Amino acid sequence: PSVDPSVPISMRSFVLNQLDSNQRIQLLRRPVLKSDEMIAKVKPIVDDVRHRGDAALIELTNKFDKAQLSSTIVRPPYAPDSMALPLDVKDAIDLAYRNIRLFHDAQATKVPMVVETMPGVVCSRFSRPIARVGLYVPGGTAILPSTALMLGIPAQVAGCKEIVLATPPRPDGSISPEVMYVAHLVGASAILTAGGAQAVAALAYGTETVPKVDKIFGPGNQWVTAAKMMVQNDTDALVSIDMPAGPSEVLVITDSTGNPRFIAADLLSQAEHGVDSQVVLIAVNITDEHLSAIKHEIDVQARALPRVDIIRESIAKSIIVSTNSLEQAIEFSNDYAPEHLILHLENAPDVVNKIDNAGSVFVGGFTPESCGDYASGTNHTLPTNGYARQFSGVNTQSFQKHITSQEISQAGLTALGPAVITLAECEGLSAHANAVRVRLEG
Ligand code: NAD
Repeated sequence: PSVDPSVPISMRSFVLNQLDSNQRIQLLRRPVLKSDEMIAKVKPIVDDVRHRGDAALIELTNKFDKAQLSSTIVRPPYAPDSMALPLDVKDAIDLAYRNIRLFHDAQATKVPMVVETMPGVVCSRFSRPIARVGLYVPGGTAILPSTALMLGIPAQVAGCKEIVLATPPRPDGSISPEVMYVAHLVGASAILTAGGAQAVAALAYGTETVPKVDKIFGPGNQWVTAAKMMVQNDTDALVSIDMPAGPSEVLVITDSTGNPRFIAADLLSQAEHGVDSQVVLIAVNITDEHLSAIKHEIDVQARALPRVDIIRESIAKSIIVSTNSLEQAIEFSNDYAPEHLILHLENAPDVVNKIDNAGSVFVGGFTPESCGDYASGTNHTLPTNGYARQFSGVNTQSFQKHITSQEISQAGLTALGPAVITLAECEGLSAHANAVRVRLEG
């Protein structure tokens, strides 16, 4: 539909303490995701790849990505020509790699945890990498080497043996040199040149040439997300996924010290992701003039952006909430559980310890979310849609499992055994009790 350019690009405004409880619940909701409908649509694609393997994968890649391939798997060493980059791009990727690697190295569980719970009863926990992982790097409408870094580095740090990076090919069948270079840096053991539900199915079930993986990571459009949800529920696939994914979002809390240009730029940096993206501004104790200046900046900056048509739609779904109380602002943010939270506040560092639910927090006026998206070190694959209440973003431990172990001495069993016998008898599980009793009776 044609848009009237004279209509301002503006967010809807609300006053926090004038909301009734129903309105508050509505504002905390995200645009609806129709997962059942999408799962029904991806099922034929997933089943096709599952049953016909490579032949189906090649046909579907031709159909959806217009690429004619004879094989969808590329193994290292990757041809130097396929990853040739301008020096500034290579340097930027190298800097991002360094910072993300440092931050994710520090997250790895390296030393076993050992606790002697009572004399002679030693419990421990140690980690092992998930052996085979699939990393989905979206590629339909943009090239995303940053996502390849954010998924590939923790997989490399964790020590995963098989790292399959899947991404849709360009019509000539190639992968962008940026993504190829990252695949090389993170030590990907294979590149699957396929996208959408067909790539997810190939990773989940394996084909003649694609290795089956144990866990699938990464964002993607609704085809990718629905296929991930479908395969994780199939006990034949025996595969897990990183987290439920949804459209990107940011929540900014600001006060009278907030710079309107910075705030508008931050809000728009998320609004440009897609028409379903949502951005929220909570304005604490700011004057009408200040709020008008922020709205004016949003409108002016949006019009100068190439993705203004996407922004028009996402900004229309977005909200400004005003309040006089920082406590209330934080409470609203914690209830919303944003993927990204920007604290554009005078005493931003003091507020961090009051944040209970968020994917990643950006502290102070000079910390734009874009830095976390690309190169500061933190991961950008984060829980959306309110899932920050119970999920963490992707991190090194997402690529590790923790195994527990115990070793009990004879003296330890003498002390612990009677309680175990009593509990087992309570539950009517006499064989359990016997396994202790036969040892205590010597
Ligand atoms: P994509 O790689 O996710 O999807 C492209 C694939 O979708 C194609 O290969 C094709 O197989 C499939 N497809 C498209 N239309 C289809 C149809 N009609 N039927 C069957 N299959 C179809 O790339 P995209 O489409 O550009 O989407 C990227 C998504 O990833 C966006 O939604 C973006 O917001 C999201 N994203 C999120 C993050 C994050 O960290 N949250 C980062 C980057 C991208």
